[in-house]
Amino acid sequence: VNSAETIITGETLITDPHESPISTGALVIDKGIIADIGKKEEILKRWQADEIVHKPAGLIMPGLINCHTHAPMTLLRGIADDLPLKEWLEKHIFPAESRLTSDLVYFGAELACAEMIRAGTTSFVDMYLFEDSVAKAAAQSGMRAWVGEGIFDFPTPAFSSGEEALKETRRLYEKWHNHPLITITVDPHTPYTCSKPLLEKSRDIAKDLDLLIVTHLAETAWEDGEIRRRFGTTPARYLDSLGLITPNTLAAHCVCLGSKDIKLLSNKRACVAHCPESNLKLGSGIAPVAEMLQENITVTLGTDGTASNNDLDMLTEMDIAAKLQKGVTKDPTVVSAHDALAMATTWAARALKRDDLGRLKKGCQADLAILDMEQVHLRPTFDPISHIVYAAKQGDVTDLMVAGKWLMRDRCLTTLDEEELLKKLPNALEKLGLSRKE
Ligand SMILES: [Zn+2]
Repeated sequence: VNSAETIITGETLITDPHESPISTGALVIDKGIIADIGKKEEILKRWQADEIVHKPAGLIMPGLINCHTHAPMTLLRGIADDLPLKEWLEKHIFPAESRLTSDLVYFGAELACAEMIRAGTTSFVDMYLFEDSVAKAAAQSGMRAWVGEGIFDFPTPAFSSGEEALKETRRLYEKWHNHPLITITVDPHTPYTCSKPLLEKSRDIAKDLDLLIVTHLAETAWEDGEIRRRFGTTPARYLDSLGLITPNTLAAHCVCLGSKDIKLLSNKRACVAHCPESNLKLGSGIAPVAEMLQENITVTLGTDGTASNNDLDMLTEMDIAAKLQKGVTKDPTVVSAHDALAMATTWAARALKRDDLGRLKKGCQADLAILDMEQVHLRPTFDPISHIVYAAKQGDVTDLMVAGKWLMRDRCLTTLDEEELLKKLPNALEKLGLSRKE
């Protein structure tokens, strides 16, 4: 008999969204890695562990990966709704963000981590300002994060110029590149908020340090028109002409892509972070995801920030992503529940170049969530993956683990104190000039 740190048994074990689940399964975890996986009966014969967790009604699944967000925007949740992107950004978001500090960003990121852990998310890809604080908050809360300092032509509260933001990207890399949970990315904000030289320098840093490029791309018809007016081509082809459409590119939104742009992304093996709820709420449109999948593009899923969603719940994001494509294509067979779950797990891992994430297999990282299936809205259970996508809600997640460490046990967070965070919130809002009017 071998010994390990933890054994978890459950009603169902999802190993990969496109493989058959294991019923009455068990999983062995040692030093943060999945050491074995199989039928409960056989695993318990072969292994003993310091901790054995039995979840008789538990569905054990790979932790969800949120491939596009701005975590600290939790502080701006609901600040201005029902407005077009440009007005929303320029009249409401940018003025509030002008008062940001690294402490406020740290606090906003902590709130985001608490919310994501509760909804089954183990990893997130973040672009914002003062990203060192986001990295610290993620590391402190035990979540896995890809973080990149937003690079703009104009001054931000964090940096006086794009050059300074580029330098910060290198500093972040120096500081964090050996951390087991944190990965640094290069984040030019959009094709229209970065000059050509800034985009080219971003590309060079990414190449030099072998980092992912995370950017917003073709989010709105306005952006498409603006780039055509300035450069005579589409946003995707413009970025490609500067060498920024690569296998290491993760482009968020991609709503306004024509067939030629889709072929281009496919040929260059660039990856997409689809953000359906944000795109719907800002009236930006619906990304042609069914067509992207047909062209074998790796499509992942993101919530975007909480000011445009307005939550960080990947369970509802999968639900909407799947149904939206069926509705627009009038074909119920596109984006199956299994595909939607893959967007949030295996395909996300592929985009992040991490085949040890997104699946529960021997040798993979122990990043997982457990759902309580013994509830009226989750019975009967013919296909557990269908329930994850179409029926489960945030409150169904009972436990969550990243790299073998519990971040939530029986619905209690282990690394973050939510009561304390909520107590501190009014003070943070006051600092942002957003105190609620009586
Ligand atoms: Zn975004």
